[in-house]
Amino acid sequence: MASIRSNKFYHSLLDARLKALQFQDETNADSRDTVVLDQTSVGRLSRMDAMQQQAMAKATRQNRATETQAIKNALLRLEEGDYGYCETCGENIPAKRLELTPTAVRCVGCAGGQHGS
Ligand SMILES: [Zn+2]
Repeated sequence: MASIRSNKFYHSLLDARLKALQFQDETNADSRDTVVLDQTSVGRLSRMDAMQQQAMAKATRQNRATETQAIKNALLRLEEGDYGYCETCGENIPAKRLELTPTAVRCVGCAGGQHGS
């Protein structure tokens, strides 16, 4: 059974992570504008660099979107009291794992050998 105190702890942990992601998203939007501006004045090679940077920025944005969703799901589980239980075996996910990966939905044993969460 998770106590109210630890729920608050994980809530603030997830909230801080969510805010950090949102902040990164805003900063990234600025750098995207810079790349577009640069394209008008630079040569082909630099444009390829810029396109690569944009592709990387896109992948990073997608990763952030995935993690943002995972955090929102975790916050929802916190509210519903389902947080911290392995969705495969139903056991408590150890606190150490949740501190490292607050969005974890499986215990180490069930997540082992699988990529992602
Ligand atoms: Zn498990």
